[in-house]
Amino acid sequence: MERDQGARPSTHDPMILTSTTGTRRQFLRRQVGPVFLATFGLGPAEAAPPEDESECGELVSLSRIAMACRFEILLPAGEEDAWEPVQEALELADDLERQMTVFREDSEISRVNREAAHRPVAVESRLFALLDLAARLARETAGAFDITAGSLARLWRSCRAQDRLPTTAEIKSARAAVGMSWIRLDHERRTVSFTSENVALDLGAIGKGYALDRICESLRSAGVTAALVHAGHSSIAAMGRPAREQGWTVSISDGTDGSRPRPRVRLRDHCMATSGSAQRFREVDGKRYGHIIDPRTGWPAEAVLSATAIAPTAAEADALATAFYIMGLEATRAYCAKHPGVFALMIVGPPDAQGAPRVVNVGSPDPPLEVTV
Ligand code: ADP
Ligand code: MG
Repeated sequence: MERDQGARPSTHDPMILTSTTGTRRQFLRRQVGPVFLATFGLGPAEAAPPEDESECGELVSLSRIAMACRFEILLPAGEEDAWEPVQEALELADDLERQMTVFREDSEISRVNREAAHRPVAVESRLFALLDLAARLARETAGAFDITAGSLARLWRSCRAQDRLPTTAEIKSARAAVGMSWIRLDHERRTVSFTSENVALDLGAIGKGYALDRICESLRSAGVTAALVHAGHSSIAAMGRPAREQGWTVSISDGTDGSRPRPRVRLRDHCMATSGSAQRFREVDGKRYGHIIDPRTGWPAEAVLSATAIAPTAAEADALATAFYIMGLEATRAYCAKHPGVFALMIVGPPDAQGAPRVVNVGSPDPPLEVTV
């Protein structure tokens, strides 16, 4: 069986809840209650139902499909007047997908992948800054997060399409093109070049978070002070807080049926992302192979069931969730100890005596972050 909602290009659906004959309000969805954002189902569980109706008050939301998931902006009710800048901010998700996707030949990243082994390729300034951030995160995670894992991601995708596992020789040859040492970033000219053939960049593990940061930036410059923005429930940016609350309450599925209390995090001006392979994997001979590849081995990571990273920006949270998922508990502890603004919630197996996964809180949350595990 294969379930893979993310590896294909997005369908560019029109904005959800939009009606061509509709009024402004038809763009908006109302909901009452805390934010449901359970990020990861490790099993069939998806969004957690509201647990306490008073928690986030009445919210309105606007969403659209981009990057093969749903981007959604939630605002406290009463802020609907801001809907035009909200719509504009949301459109950034499409623009950035066009720039970063590896599923379209005409994206800027595809052009880099085609040409950078032959000549330095100039890239747009914000994209250059993102590549620079990715290089720093690769260094800090000792290559667990690595945007040059593109050749491996491509190999695993093509094998999945052929319904087989890669051979050891194929993995070896794909791994030969992995490593940030093959990348040269020229800060003066803002160019990227590759020092080896077959290198391919893949922003799949950081692009959604980066888009959230850009959306928040746009909302802020339009005067919006409180919003929760997420991409496919797995990457979240919390701006400000709902009225009368200390922050935005989000919950994480631990993969069980929901009868146990879920780990909850209260976020204020922080971002969070979760990586896990519950939603995207293929099964061969009864074994699951996820879509997050350990660049150091070439094989899908399987150290933990899911990794949630909380960080100042959504790009960092997104990349670190992927890295922590690969690094496992102890290396994640070491990372968080060195980086005070970052912490993690790891869901690890094997299940305890009751058959429930174990949730481990790594790092001491700052005051605006309240973690209830
Ligand atoms: P999701 O997109 O499901 O939220 P991630 O943020 O963890 O999951 O990103 C996974 C995607 O990132 C993969 O589909 C692949 O394109 C790419 N990728 C896989 N392994 C790595 C890695 N070790 N470092 C960087 N990117 C990776
Ligand atoms: Mg990620």
